[in-house]
Amino acid sequence: MSVPHLRLSESVTIPQLGFGVFKVDPAATQQVVETALEAGYRHIDTAAVYGNEEGVGRALAASGLPAGEVFVTTKLWNADQGYDTTLAAFERSMERLGLDVLDLYLIHWPMPDHGSYVETWRALAQLHADGRVRAVGVSNFGIAELQVLAEAGLPTPAINQIEAHPLLGQAALRDYHRTHGMVTEAWSPLAQGQALDLPEIAAIAEAHGATPAQIVIAWHLALGNVVIPKSVTPERITSNFAAHEIVLTDEEVARIDALDRGHRVGPDPNTFHRL
Ligand code: NDP
Repeated sequence: MSVPHLRLSESVTIPQLGFGVFKVDPAATQQVVETALEAGYRHIDTAAVYGNEEGVGRALAASGLPAGEVFVTTKLWNADQGYDTTLAAFERSMERLGLDVLDLYLIHWPMPDHGSYVETWRALAQLHADGRVRAVGVSNFGIAELQVLAEAGLPTPAINQIEAHPLLGQAALRDYHRTHGMVTEAWSPLAQGQALDLPEIAAIAEAHGATPAQIVIAWHLALGNVVIPKSVTPERITSNFAAHEIVLTDEEVARIDALDRGHRVGPDPNTFHRL
């Protein structure tokens, strides 16, 4: 069984299961990403602010995999929002990654009070039109910000990467994405570990002879989310990847849906403002 792909545009698809590197020490990133590539991941999610784009680039170069085989996402940091600053920040990320063309570039946070995300989105649309990036999207945008982009007559983001896990189902935002042809991508998909001790998840894991993390990842896949679990632990990197072979029943999916508590493990995008 191979990892399913979801369509971002007529010509671009994204592997539904990827590997996140938030909080992976820059000095360890090359090794960790090499382990992920050996385990079978073909999709890596980094960001300028993680400080580890160079390690991702080194792992890609060392892998011997053909160019274009691994789907790479990076994100524009808040301090670089604005049209010209975005174009310059993109080039710096590409230099660190050692890539000529990026698969997916995201605005990391909307920072609505900063008032720059529309100009920033225009810059991403230009990078896409210029062929520097195959798909563009956003992260942590709410319905209000997505509507502002639509009202400005700008292209619809291909994807919105948002916090989502069994304790934060994000039903309304996921519905909005679906009705507007956008893909939902789940960050902190394991709730940074908090979703793994729930008795309901443990029971389903036992029924499948699987780990709780595998069940949570399989649930994201069943919902149609792109999912990017992070781990620096080789056994977890491997077992998390194997989750794409687990098929949950509709009843199991519904039992996990019912765990939604509106509980965030990360910042609230409406108020998050860090430069
Ligand atoms: P995750 O929900 O992926 O959880 C990671 C934590 O879970 C780590 O502590 C890891 O430990 C542990 N873990 C992983 N696998 C297992 C397992 N099988 N059993 C037990 N524990 C496990 O959290 P993240 O916050 O890292 O989110 C994932 C990715 O999402 C990030 O790496 C990043 O790419 C992206 N992200 C994006 C954000 C955004 O604003 N756009 C914000 C936050 C994250 P260990 O590493 O020690 O094995």
